[in-house]
Order: sequence, then C-alpha cells, then structure tokens
Amino acid sequence: MASFKIQELLDAADGKLIQKGNADFVSGVSTDSRTIGEGELFIALRGDNFDGHDYVSKAVSRKAAAVMVSDLALLKEWGNFVTVICVKDTLSALFSLAHFHRMRFSVPVVGITGSNGKTTTKDMLSAVLSSVYKITSTQKNFNNEIGLSQTLLSMTGETEVCVTEMGMRGLGQINQLCSIASPTMGIVTNVGTSHIGILGSQENIALAKSELIRNLSEDGTAILNGDDPFVRRMGTLCNQVVYYGLGETYSVRGKDIVYDGESTCYTCVYLDKEYPVKLNLLGIHNVYDSLAAAAAGLSLGVDMDHIVEALKNFKPIGQRQTILNIHGVTVLDDSYNANPLSMEMAFSSLAQMNAEHRYLVLGDMGELGKFEKQLHFKTGAKAAQFSFDGLITVGPLCHELARGAKENGMENVFSFESCEDAAECLMDIVKPGDAVLVKGSHYMHMEEIPKIIDRSY
Ligand code: ATP
Ligand code: MG
Repeated sequence: MASFKIQELLDAADGKLIQKGNADFVSGVSTDSRTIGEGELFIALRGDNFDGHDYVSKAVSRKAAAVMVSDLALLKEWGNFVTVICVKDTLSALFSLAHFHRMRFSVPVVGITGSNGKTTTKDMLSAVLSSVYKITSTQKNFNNEIGLSQTLLSMTGETEVCVTEMGMRGLGQINQLCSIASPTMGIVTNVGTSHIGILGSQENIALAKSELIRNLSEDGTAILNGDDPFVRRMGTLCNQVVYYGLGETYSVRGKDIVYDGESTCYTCVYLDKEYPVKLNLLGIHNVYDSLAAAAAGLSLGVDMDHIVEALKNFKPIGQRQTILNIHGVTVLDDSYNANPLSMEMAFSSLAQMNAEHRYLVLGDMGELGKFEKQLHFKTGAKAAQFSFDGLITVGPLCHELARGAKENGMENVFSFESCEDAAECLMDIVKPGDAVLVKGSHYMHMEEIPKIIDRSY
C-alpha cells in the first residue's frame, strides 16, 4: 500500500491544508468509503452517478486519517482528528499521487495496449514474470485512468516489475495514462476496428495506440506485433524494438502451429533455438498474445524455460474462450466482448474444434459508429467462409451480420432479439458432439445463453 506523509500529499496533489488532524501520514489511498482502512486517505471522486463528497463522513467513521476533497461546502461534519485537504480536482489529485508513488521505484513498468488481447497478454505476462519476480499488475480489466492509478498505488518496496493494461477510448487518452505511469516498456498487440465509431479510421486508432510507444522513456523498449502493419510502423518511434509474430525475421517468433481441439502447440524460436510451447487455449490470437508475453518476459530477463512452463499452466479468466461442456455439447464461451477482429479470431478457434457440427450464436457488436452496418455485414461474410453448420444472431445490428452470411452462401441462419429466443432455437438444433461459439459485445449479455441451455436440460 502507498503511504504518504501529509506534506507529500500536499506537494504531490497541489493541495491546501484545511485542517491538520492527528496523523502525520496516511497508510494507503482509497476512493471507496465502504472498504477504506483505518489510517488511509479518502479521495472524494465525482462520477456521473455519484459524488464521493457524500461519503466523507462514512470514510471518517471508518477511521480515515485524511480526506481529500474539492468542495468544502459539501462537507457536513468531519471532527477535528482527521486531516482535510482541498484540491482543485480530486481525480487529477488521484493521478498525481499515483504518479508520485510510481516514481518512488526505479523498476520496469510495462504498459499494454491494442484493440484486442490486452487482458490476455497482461495475464500471460504476469504469469511469466511472477515465475521469477515479485510483480504488481492490473487487476481484472481495470484499464482506465482510475484502474491504472490504483494499480500503481498498489506497488510496494517488494515490487520488481509492474504490469499495466491501458485501455483507450480516444486520441490523447494513452498520453494521459503514460503521464501517470511513465512506462519503460510498451506492448502493442494489434490495431483493429474497435472504437472506430469514436476515432473515425484505423489510422487514427493506430495513432492513438502509438502514444504508448511515443511516451516510453529514452531507454524504453517497444514490444510490437510485427505481423500487424499498423503496429509494425510504430517501430520507428522507439530506439529499442522487439518484434514478435510469425515472420522469419522477428526476434521472437512462432511456427509449426498445431491445434488439437482443446489446446494449441507451437514452436517458439528465439536466438536460433527452438522451444515447444503448449497453450490450453485455442486460436492463433492466443499464439500472438503468448508471443507478446514471451518477448516481454525475455526482455525483462526471464529465461525461456520459465516462460514455457508459465504458458503451459496459463488459464484464461472470465468468458474469454472458456470451454464448457453442457450435456455433451461443447460451448466455446467467448461472450466477454466482441469486435470484428476478435469475432474473426473466434471463428477460427471454433473451426479448429473437434465436433460433429459447428454453430455460431452471435450478438451485436457495439461502438462501431457509422461503420456498424458495414462491419456487421463483413463479419457475416467472414463467417460464411468457414462452412459452419448454422448461425443464430441476437440483436438489431446482427440483422446485417445475418444478411452478410446468407448472401455469401451460409445456410441455417436465424435472427432473434433476445438471448432466451436464441437459446431456444439453439436447443432445437444442437446435439451432443456438436460445438457452439457464443460471442457478442459485453452489453448483449451473451453469457446468458449457456446458462439458459444448462438450466433447460
Ligand atoms: P478490452 O478492450 O475489453 O479490455 P482486451 O483487449 O483486454 O479487451 P481480452 O480481454 O484479452 O482483450 O480478449 C477479449 C477477446 O478478444 C478474447 O475473448 C478473444 O476473442 C479476442 N482476442 C484476444 N487476443 C486477441 C488477439 N491478439 N487478436 C485478436 N483477438 C484477440
Ligand atoms: Mg481488457
């Protein structure tokens, strides 16, 4: 936990001391009055639906040593034992404290961005690094400014490497994340079309992701997917670059990929030596994510034997291609999220599964703005190339996906507006020995489909 002297809080957050309480320091930083510990600092953040200023007295009653606020008029009572600091903006103050704390440590800080595979790469790299080092890393998918700040604030004197996921919703956002984290290593997984609704073009998405590489320290290292042309071009922005991918010239490369229905094996080539890698995951995208983790691990001094072992034991978290067996039907539950690129990757995973028949159950993909119709149609057309045995769609945008599939020769295409109706249709078609991919944007709650099927048997 990050501890700060009161004077450090004032200096780092450019705060004004309104009241000096009993404590000379705070033992941690919290923005949640429900979980704040004794002796910690409570920062009153404001969101769209809440105002942390309403919870200051709760934090004080849980024995917070100090509170940081931006509006004194909103405070009811706080007692004279607590330190009260006023800042212009509490969110910026949180970022400043996170940055101040990060700069206390001269350890590598890794930033990971890309359209797809950030969390998977972050978790794979965390597994690789923790076989050798004490690490701090982003929890779950907390990849915005607040999550990043919390990750950095959880660094301790024991932390040897910090691994952070960096999400992006617009130009300049990764610049801001980098100003908080000062990364020494940047990994860019790929540039797809997620958030194209906000950024307007793939070039702009690439520009936004490249902010990570532009912001690396002088001696920083870029770990780049050489097979993605938009990412490869970022190599000119940094002195030290490690390319990974399938290309012969890359420092860390994969070859001889074999899928056996439930796992993926490939050979990783590094410094002219070959290492067999086994992943308990399907799909070429996982090969890429694991190559990124291997390349970053190698650059940070982990040896290949530890890397291979960590990857062998790696399991994905929460609806990212979780394989379920529901009464003899294999369900590839990839319902965590979707965009055109990750849909395509998931189609190839389903195609690699051993099954009698293979079906798609797909939901709408959000955040595609004016490209949404076109990209849904294209995704349907892509699906038709795989000779799957049927497609069930959920949601209004997927009408275009269904049309794209049908116009490109796919048969057995059905469209519904609810997961319940889609699940019912699926149950009429599917038999033991078949495999089903379930995928859609987070807000479509496609994870309900395997649950409905499971309950109905
Ligand atoms: P988010 O933007 O929601 O944080 P993310 O970038 O962290 O997503 P993951 O959570 O790792 O991505 O993976 C989400 C889905 O994207 C996976 O279930 C898989 O279908 C797909 N995916 C993972 N890695 C890749 C990759 N390298 N290329 C394309 N698709 C990928
Ligand atoms: Mg993520």
